[in-house]
Amino acid sequence: MDSLLHDLRYSTRQLSGHRSFSITAFLTLALVIGANVAIFAGISSVLLAVASALAGLGLGWAGVRALFVLGVDQLRRTAGVTTILTWAVIAASPLVAAQGSDPPERDSQATAFVNVSVLTMEDETLLHNQTVVVRQGRIATLAPAGSLTPADGALIVDGAGRTLLPGLVDAHVHLDPWVGARPDFGDAPLFLAHGVTSVINLRGDATTLEWKRRIAEGTLLAPNLYTSGEFFNEPRVNTPEEAAAEVQAQAAAGYDLIKFREVIDFETGQVLTTSGLAEDALLALHEAARQAGLPVVGHAPYRVGLDGMLAAGHSLAHTNELANVYFMPPLDLGSGMVMLARWSFLALLLLVVIGALVTLVGWLRRGSAAPEPARPAGILVPAATALAVAVAAAVLWILVVPPGRLFGNLALLLVLSALVAVLLGLALVMIRRVMVAARSPEGSRSHTILAVATALAALALVAGVALATAFAWRGSNWAVHRVARRCADASIWVQSTLVLYETVQAARDGYRIEEQKQLPAFQYLSAELQESWGRIPGLIPPWMGRIWSRHPVFTRELLGALHRQGVPIMAGTDALGAPFVIPGHSLHRELALLGECGLTPYQVLWTATVGPARFLGLGPEFGTIAEGKRADLILVEGDPTSNLACLARPEGVMVRGVWLPRAQLDRMLEDLRPTADPEPVPDVVK
Ligand SMILES: [Zn+2]
Repeated sequence: MDSLLHDLRYSTRQLSGHRSFSITAFLTLALVIGANVAIFAGISSVLLAVASALAGLGLGWAGVRALFVLGVDQLRRTAGVTTILTWAVIAASPLVAAQGSDPPERDSQATAFVNVSVLTMEDETLLHNQTVVVRQGRIATLAPAGSLTPADGALIVDGAGRTLLPGLVDAHVHLDPWVGARPDFGDAPLFLAHGVTSVINLRGDATTLEWKRRIAEGTLLAPNLYTSGEFFNEPRVNTPEEAAAEVQAQAAAGYDLIKFREVIDFETGQVLTTSGLAEDALLALHEAARQAGLPVVGHAPYRVGLDGMLAAGHSLAHTNELANVYFMPPLDLGSGMVMLARWSFLALLLLVVIGALVTLVGWLRRGSAAPEPARPAGILVPAATALAVAVAAAVLWILVVPPGRLFGNLALLLVLSALVAVLLGLALVMIRRVMVAARSPEGSRSHTILAVATALAALALVAGVALATAFAWRGSNWAVHRVARRCADASIWVQSTLVLYETVQAARDGYRIEEQKQLPAFQYLSAELQESWGRIPGLIPPWMGRIWSRHPVFTRELLGALHRQGVPIMAGTDALGAPFVIPGHSLHRELALLGECGLTPYQVLWTATVGPARFLGLGPEFGTIAEGKRADLILVEGDPTSNLACLARPEGVMVRGVWLPRAQLDRMLEDLRPTADPEPVPDVVK
């Protein structure tokens, strides 16, 4: 150790003495400082890739990606079956439509909820003992009981002990056949039975628009449907002109919003997006969307980064997109680049080991003779120390970045930063010894080459650990709140999808798949989906899951910070977009998770009623109970402002004025349950 300190002092003294040494040391410092600056500016994806390689983050993410790819792949395999079913049901659609359209006669008469408590969502007050009259799909009257007598012939619904509130919105669902959704909005009963009266679908086509039209005219009984068109990104759209034209085309086709996301080749399942839309095209997209009155939501624009994203006012379809674009190395890094960084890092590491071995052998050959500091042999101790420090730093890093068990721990972040300083010192020592050896007449050429390679490896270690440390600081409370504040200032919206992370984590860890399959709602999924989701293997062993499984927790803390800073949140689940995120059922888990983020029950309800309506620019149309608004209502036992759990199984649901009591909702669900004989298709076609 004395010798190390001596070397360190010597190295520092030499900084201004030797020109070549000064240059090397300067480059080392520049690399480390530059790396930190680069990482905070978010401009160097190559350096990010090195950081990811250092501590196995790449491995962790590969797991998550693999799950998505695997899930997607399996879903894709079911697409063939689904297509057959689609045609079968389309052929039988007159029958389905006839069944779905029984309510018109009731639609023309009034429905009155009497003696009911009402949570209008215009404010937090729970109004007791009210009468609410619905006529022709609209809320006609809201008044205290006694001041209003429902007209004769009105359907009377007793509301004693119950609360009437606006129907729920799932702001992020997928209804296209590619994900395994039933044709003809066949999953609608799952949404309705869970009180979901409106959905925002984040990938639609002409068929989805046709459903939307039929729902609006009352011939398809389903939640109100708002839909985006095809995913928006390069390489499908590249220039600002193309972006503006695409927005105008989607607006003209009748879509309600734009979904920004990596473009997929649905034939092969491959993601085609190369690096994401450039900043000028992204700004053109947002400008054209503003002019057309279409909100934009989606994944983060990875190429543009956080600053450009906020400048564009780009709303997010997932809480975790903030992590993807800022808190963790972007998922969107080209996989080739990640592989290159990983292998070059491993090669450098190998050189350290070989260098150390050669040095060791040389030292053993010389017997008990003390190693002379002028020889390359003198780098054995600092090299071994550097490796040990780097391993310690990597372990710490795994613990303190967001998926780790101790993310954001200030004391550990400081220790990690101190280790970077130690590594830098060790690198200086090694460089100094390499230079001394290179000038020494006794130093053999091969020794010198190995020594130089070893010093380079040490520099790579320093750079990698420094980069990783900079990333770790991003997960600290301070950084999270700062980013949340900036999101609020940029007036962006965030769709929560917390249930997605919980479910993906559970499936990834493998230990909760059986549990998910036992959920009652799972039994109402299509047979194909039950089969394909049920086949997903757990990808990582439980012990690894325990160390590296705090990602959903980080996402919840992030969501809480966003909410506290005033970012408007929409409750969205990504229903059917990922395995085990079940339509309707998942929204109630989402609401519970939002409660865990620190939102009050009223604030949670806001994210699933008023919030999404305002996001769509349809605040005057739905989202609250007020005269003239669309009659999307749910009637629940108890008081949701003190207990959100009472929402999960409503006593009845009204969608566009059509009243569906619990018994009817249960019948609709039972009709979804796949029969033991999974071949009813030929009968329907016949
Ligand atoms: Zn989605």
